[in-house]
Amino acid sequence: MKRRTKIVATLGPATDDARVLDELIHAGVDVVRLNFSHGSQPEHIERARRVRERAGTLGREVGVLADLQGPKIRIQRFREGPVHLADGARFVLDAALPAGDGTRERVGISYAALPADVVRGDTLLLDDGAIVLEVEDVRGTQIECRVVVGGALADNKGINRQGGGLSAQALTDKDRADIAVAAAMRADYLAVSFPRSADDIHEARALLHAAGGRAGIVAKIERAEAVASLEDIMQAADVVMIARGDLGVEIGDAELPAVQKRIIQAARSLDRVVITATQMMQSMVENPIPTRAEVFDVANAVLDGTDAVMLSAETAIGKYPARVVQAMDRICKAAERQRLTTLSARRQTMRFHRIDEAIAKAAMYTANHLNVKAIAALTESGATPLWMSRISSGIPIYALTRHADTRAKVTLYRGVYPVDFDVTAAGHAEVNREALDRLMRYGAVREGDLVIITEGDLAGVHGGTNAMRILRVGESASPR
Ligand code: PGA
Ligand code: MN
Repeated sequence: MKRRTKIVATLGPATDDARVLDELIHAGVDVVRLNFSHGSQPEHIERARRVRERAGTLGREVGVLADLQGPKIRIQRFREGPVHLADGARFVLDAALPAGDGTRERVGISYAALPADVVRGDTLLLDDGAIVLEVEDVRGTQIECRVVVGGALADNKGINRQGGGLSAQALTDKDRADIAVAAAMRADYLAVSFPRSADDIHEARALLHAAGGRAGIVAKIERAEAVASLEDIMQAADVVMIARGDLGVEIGDAELPAVQKRIIQAARSLDRVVITATQMMQSMVENPIPTRAEVFDVANAVLDGTDAVMLSAETAIGKYPARVVQAMDRICKAAERQRLTTLSARRQTMRFHRIDEAIAKAAMYTANHLNVKAIAALTESGATPLWMSRISSGIPIYALTRHADTRAKVTLYRGVYPVDFDVTAAGHAEVNREALDRLMRYGAVREGDLVIITEGDLAGVHGGTNAMRILRVGESASPR
């Protein structure tokens, strides 16, 4: 059985070795993530180029996701390396302190407006929540804190406020420069970090278009405000990422499981794609096998209905990049064998707004209730297979298209497999026969199997899908 849930793997120093990269692609990575929080622009450009070259050679479709750093607020550096903060001690975050001048008593911050954003009584979380500070007073540029949970604190660690509400702009100057790079490398997806509202997503899309890019926009849900305006942000974006690292710090880790389920459900019902991210297999940064809790986490995300599961440090800087993908692959497949994942809940209130959408969803209703082996969507933009994949099913959806960028885009959609196929060459009967032939050669169907094909009267036209045919492989006529 083919895996339906997609795997996103972050590239980094650990995957730069040519052999490791091949192993990763071979293990089944569907989309690679370039994390613009680390590394230089030339490094990202080179990684994107190499991944595409190797995927092409190995006969695999791999999408490229460029992930912007965003306005992550950080402390600056210490004069003499990491410091130890004792519980109960006083510690000052000082916007006026020079960047390299931190001590045990005070440290600089990367966001000059932070003192204006916090008030006495606020809780600040450093290093993803490892260090907890309570604000006792704010005087000018200085935020005076009491250490609630101490420990070692190193340079450039992140700062979040519990409950969210920091005013930093979603797109920094660095992000604007990186958007141009994402456009130039023809990234298939662009992820916006820390968006507060739909406007942040619109702005990123406008900048991307101005730079000539056509990537799908991924909204990372990692601020409390983003959870509050989830629907608007989703409508503005093509994909949402449940960015559990920062989100967990802002809303509290215990809130995450319920929020994850809510986001996945909302995404599917709004016809949006969803990625579940961060610390899915964290222990495999160091260890060759996952913990039981990690096995459950990946499987539960699959059962929740996510399109993709994501690896960060596990592949970028981990000791076992290929093994972690193999483990994820194995866990996803086993979870997908649960009947639960293939049952589609009926959506009584659903209305179709377009002809192609109606065909896509009707095809899934038919496929799930007739013994169909495969669905072949002859598609230009990938919209038809996207709609199809919002309906739970165990039946593979093949996206047949001549457009390389459409094939790269559908790499992220659950249960959708890209196939290079030119529909403009011939008439309908011939195209259908060729499509079946192709699926047969692919090993997807055999003589006698039923296949649903969706297509348009005018082949090669965007949004033109207006027909569904049910064909039996090896017969030219429809089944009785
Ligand atoms: P990051 O985003 O890895 O860029 O921080 C994901 C997250 O916060 O979970
Ligand atoms: Mn984050």
